Amino acid sequence: TSPLTPPPLPHRSVFTHLFASTTSSPNDVGGYPSATPAFIDAASGTTLTRGQLKHLALSFAHGLRSHPATRSHAKRGDTVMVYSPNALVWPVVVFGSVAAGLRCTLANHAYNARELAFQYTDSGAGLVFTSEAGVATVRATFKDLGLSASDAEKRIIVLPAGLDWAGGPAVPRRADSANLLTVADFLGRGALKEEEKFDGPQLSGETVYLCYSSGTTGKPKGVETTHRNITSVMDMVSAGIGMDPRGDIMLGFLPLYHIYGAVNVLHWPFTLGVPVALMTHFDPENFCAYVQKYKATISLVVPPVLVVLARHPAVDKYNLSSLDILLSGAAPLGAELSHAVIKRLQLKGDRKEPLKILQGYGLTETSPTTHLVPPSHAADRIGSIGVQLPHLEIRLVVDGDGDGLIDAAEGERGELWIRGPSIMKGYLNNPTATKDSITPDGWFKTGDIGTRDADGFYHIVDRRKELIKYKGFQVPPAELEGLLLTHPDIADAAVIGVESAKEATELPRAYVVHAHPTSLRVESDKVAFAENVRSWVRSKVAKHKYLRGGVVVVDIIPKSAAGKILRRELRDRSKGELAGR
Ligand code: AMP
Repeated sequence: TSPLTPPPLPHRSVFTHLFASTTSSPNDVGGYPSATPAFIDAASGTTLTRGQLKHLALSFAHGLRSHPATRSHAKRGDTVMVYSPNALVWPVVVFGSVAAGLRCTLANHAYNARELAFQYTDSGAGLVFTSEAGVATVRATFKDLGLSASDAEKRIIVLPAGLDWAGGPAVPRRADSANLLTVADFLGRGALKEEEKFDGPQLSGETVYLCYSSGTTGKPKGVETTHRNITSVMDMVSAGIGMDPRGDIMLGFLPLYHIYGAVNVLHWPFTLGVPVALMTHFDPENFCAYVQKYKATISLVVPPVLVVLARHPAVDKYNLSSLDILLSGAAPLGAELSHAVIKRLQLKGDRKEPLKILQGYGLTETSPTTHLVPPSHAADRIGSIGVQLPHLEIRLVVDGDGDGLIDAAEGERGELWIRGPSIMKGYLNNPTATKDSITPDGWFKTGDIGTRDADGFYHIVDRRKELIKYKGFQVPPAELEGLLLTHPDIADAAVIGVESAKEATELPRAYVVHAHPTSLRVESDKVAFAENVRSWVRSKVAKHKYLRGGVVVVDIIPKSAAGKILRRELRDRSKGELAGR
């Protein structure tokens, strides 16, 4: 069990948890004054206050449920999809949809039509909220899915950038999407009435978000994250970090469609009254400029961003001394990299306290954070993922050679199993995968291998599952292998991850068997074929799935007697192939 004091966890909806007044003041929005900034567009400085956000979200909720064009897709329990880069309109759309009793499936805005079609269909979504830039892909997706043009056009709702839409329908539109509905069409039609709001203890166990994760094996699956998961994890993280948020400002760039950003940038700071300066994406120069401009005190990062902070010249141009905490998650963070960033930022500006880099750990299935280094241990626990958050129980499980599964001894490796209020309900419409990942008594099997020391601090040392992570983004090998097998000249394929120390990430690497091996006569034929496969994959998938780790042509893919790819064998082989590079 966790060494941290457990906070009380109320059973209520995400919307109520965020927005309900906690004092008798009429200006109280979720415990903080309504005029406090909630989200700021980092580039323009446009600000959405807590009060504006609440008003706009309830107005949007009412509009969605009552508008003749959308009401058949906005019934209680319906699913809507958000497919857009980060923008100020995100909290309005997501919290508005949640207030309206809808579930949101959040899609990677780099997805192409094929990838989007899978998530759209699998999640059972109706309406899609997308940026102007995403409209063409959504239209292509609907065409591939065989929707009639008139039906398709009614399901697309455009999310404009900036905040022009908030005042009324006078939104500048691109000609090719001028016929589509936009967020502004749903505002100003009245607000959701108290009795229409979806709330109460009975709701807390219902699914609210569907992010996609491949779990330990196979293709991406819809992770059913409930109201209770989200409301709990926010208060558990606050207890874990012991934050006293007076005067804090977050600089947020993590993609809001990934659970890491969805919870920790979109939701969590709001519960602490911490304004978020929101970036569309990470950019070294802008990151440093906005830390200086907004005097940001906290940001959430992934290890490749720390590589940038350790090396990029922009760091020397700006005053970053306001930065107090960087939370790093989604992939392993090496101690050397942490030390390099702390040292570099320590030497700059009028900084008095050293920067704290706190590593956290979690998964989409655990909403996500389960472990965090407490700030009081920032300096002495570098390299650890910290301790588990309150309310969570952890087991490290090993195969007991005839004794079944047993708990690892202190300091020994075991698979991390986690139980508690932030574990997902299950994988959508996939009872088999759910049963394989959650035991009957509620333990979720992470597929990660870790150790625990005498003080209860954990380290992640290996991964048992097939998953590859490129800069924190999931790359499910099974998805790429399925795609490779549709290549006319490929007879068999396996994809593994290889380490890039330089970029602090894994890179996906494919091993492929040619359908007519005799046609590859000389080495240069193999090289040309590998290059062909690499660029063919590039034309079919979102960027983070590119085969950056290379393509190797082989005679056979090593497999077990049961036909399972022997990934460890390939990983060992790749180390030899890449040694000395
Ligand atoms: P996702 O569901 O995309 O958040 O991916 C979850 C996976 O990311 C975990 O199962 C781990 O394999 C990996 N991961 C997340 N945080 C860390 C960390 N701090 N150290 C090592 N691996 C991590």
